[in-house]
Amino acid sequence: MASCNAQELLDRYDRKALPSFDVGGGNVDFLEAAFEAAEKSGRGMYLSSTPSTVQSYLGFEGYVSAIQMVAKRHPGVDYAIHLDHSKELKFVEEALQAGFRSVMYDGSHLSFEENVENTKKALAWAKAKGATLECELGTISGKEDEIEEEGEKLPTFEEISRFVSETAATLTAPAIGTVHGHFKGEPRLNWAVVDQMKDLNGNFVLHGCTGLDPQILTEFARRGWVKFNFATALRDEFRQGLVEHLEKHPKDLKPFTYLKAGRSRLSSYMSEIFGHLDPKE
Ligand SMILES: [Zn+2]
Repeated sequence: MASCNAQELLDRYDRKALPSFDVGGGNVDFLEAAFEAAEKSGRGMYLSSTPSTVQSYLGFEGYVSAIQMVAKRHPGVDYAIHLDHSKELKFVEEALQAGFRSVMYDGSHLSFEENVENTKKALAWAKAKGATLECELGTISGKEDEIEEEGEKLPTFEEISRFVSETAATLTAPAIGTVHGHFKGEPRLNWAVVDQMKDLNGNFVLHGCTGLDPQILTEFARRGWVKFNFATALRDEFRQGLVEHLEKHPKDLKPFTYLKAGRSRLSSYMSEIFGHLDPKE
């Protein structure tokens, strides 16, 4: 199957938890690291970037081409080319035009009604292109790329339930207390709402997985959440691998050796993530 939309990944992997790796706008080392880890795990994944990262690196079409190029080296791996947190409908349109199979429209900054209305618009466009849509309700605080929110606004169970049935998007990301970027202090998750959600007929996405305890990830996977977003933690690992290599080999001028040091550390970390998301009953 290889290139998939979210519904195809859900069907193919029996609604099991899959990671969404932020690949920095289509960075080849991040992509190689992700494909290597997915190949080892035998699972699919989402390859994700925000509109600003895509635009400032390779552009929408370049992003798709970079993923397809690396995917050719790993023909057994299923992946979704995913757009993260598009707060504007025009980027959803642009991404679909370029061949993204999975897009997120984030109308969480709008009123409930406006969010539902725009989400429905984005959903119709995605369907027409054979792609799927992720939407967001409530605000996830913290900072990552252009996504920056000060306070958090956590939706109630009733709001989540209404949003899921009114939008009918394939994936829903409700804010439940996780944070984009690094946590300041201990995460305070809204477990009461998470518990109530187990009977809802939706596919839920956990944003801001950086800094969460592996047991928490496993717990969400066990409760049937389907997509887990990682960005900041991946950047930390890649950078650390690179820095350690250059400290040991300060005269190394070859990008394919020092970048590979970052890649290799990142790929091991991604393999660990696949492990955390695979709860053994
Ligand atoms: Zn997010």
